Amino acid sequence: MSPTPPQQRGRKLAIIGGGWAGLATAVSAVQGGAEVCLLEMAPQLGGRARSLAADDKQALLDNGQHILIGAYTQSLTLLQTLGVDPEHAFLRTPLRLRYPRHEGLRLPSGAPLISFTRGVLANQDWPLSARLSLLMTAGRWLLKGFQCPPDWSVSTLCADLPRCVREGLIEPLCVAALNTPAAQASASTFLRVLRDALFSGPGSADLLLPRLPLSALLATPAQNWLLAHGAELRLSHRAQSLQADGAGWRLDGEFFDQVVLACTSVEAARLCRDIAPAWSQQAQTLRFEPILTVYLHSPGSRLPAPMVALQEGPQAPAQFAFDLGQLGTQPGLFAFVISGAAPWVGHGLAESGRYTLAQAIQEFDWATPPTVYRVLAEKRATFACTPGLSRPPMAIAPGLWAAGDYVAGPYPATLEGAVRAGQAAAAQALR
Ligand SMILES: Cc1cc2nc3c(=O)[nH]c(=O)nc-3n(C[C@H](O)[C@H](O)[C@H](O)COP(=O)(O)OP(=O)(O)OC[C@H]3O[C@@H](n4cnc5c(N)ncnc54)[C@H](O)[C@@H]3O)c2cc1C
Repeated sequence: MSPTPPQQRGRKLAIIGGGWAGLATAVSAVQGGAEVCLLEMAPQLGGRARSLAADDKQALLDNGQHILIGAYTQSLTLLQTLGVDPEHAFLRTPLRLRYPRHEGLRLPSGAPLISFTRGVLANQDWPLSARLSLLMTAGRWLLKGFQCPPDWSVSTLCADLPRCVREGLIEPLCVAALNTPAAQASASTFLRVLRDALFSGPGSADLLLPRLPLSALLATPAQNWLLAHGAELRLSHRAQSLQADGAGWRLDGEFFDQVVLACTSVEAARLCRDIAPAWSQQAQTLRFEPILTVYLHSPGSRLPAPMVALQEGPQAPAQFAFDLGQLGTQPGLFAFVISGAAPWVGHGLAESGRYTLAQAIQEFDWATPPTVYRVLAEKRATFACTPGLSRPPMAIAPGLWAAGDYVAGPYPATLEGAVRAGQAAAAQALR
């Protein structure tokens, strides 16, 4: 093993993991002048937000349908740095919860408070009393600074709202944003998402639906950018071991001044079990929620909107359906998303696919009979965002940082949470 030349000390940064957090770390660190080496155990970058070839090699499917919102400012800035134009990359629409046979809540564009008030008042799905009840409750949240006791669930927070508002708005938003059912989901985190989405700058609640496969959105542009800026990328390379070495770190025998663990919490806990046992323990206490994505195939068919909300139930697994033809990625393919999917994972993939197909046939008119194209399961899609959850901090040890959607922060497991965690870790490493 050769000693590190003195002039390089302080600048050599290893990043373990090439998901959105690791890529955000790498780009920020390169911009800050670090000498970056990124290790990714998969043969491709992107982590959970990646594309994969379908079995028949015909279609490039995303690991799961992803949506962003206008409030995801750091993700959008990162994409622009990489030369990706958000205008081209996303279909951007004001927040709209369209159901198969009726319009749900639809926020007009404009100043957030006025837009929310106008959208709620115009929603003919709910009686006037329900609309006023939601506006009064939202007003109380606003007055309290979107804070609530840390042990409250979303169901507790919204217990006084009429059932139609809970079922038509709160529950679908909660499971979409936190991937945790309202009865078990953290009300504090939910309020933070609502605050940033509905009550910050104009356009923050806008839905951004990718018009590109996920890999073309971030992973490939980031790979090209990093290589062009001198970073080293090692794909298909799983980091095995990490030890302290003087003022730096020895990673699989190689010296680095600083290391950012941008891998999953499970792998981060393994790698620093002996270095920082308390941090490792805390990371191991995180529990996970699965997401299933059922891709249906029906040439020539079209949903009433690119994204349609669905009423889930004991026989109806999916909460949202996406028309990939209208999004310009895969005409004739439809992604049905089952968030908080633990019960359906228990039923098995084939059964989940069958129930989703029956739900789709029941809910929509099809030009050609739909068939199940593929069912994808991500068992650890996100951490379970439960009340009072204590998430591990970014600082693990001097010169050793954690980045990832699970690291302590205001957001649930999202692309934006991952990007912000990566940028924060890079800033610390560059200090
Ligand atoms: C189906 C699905 C749907 C989702 N929908 C949305 C959505 O609509 N909107 C949204 O904002 N978020 C969504 N999410 C969440 C979002 O994908 C994640 O929050 C985000 O991708 C997490 O990024 P990350 O970099 O923190 O972690 P990851 O993407 O998990 O990246 C970690 C990387 O580390 C690598 N790695 C692990 N161990 C090692 C090791 N020892 N050595 C080297 N590499 C290693 C892994 O291979 C992986 O590439 C969804 C997630 C899923 C699964």
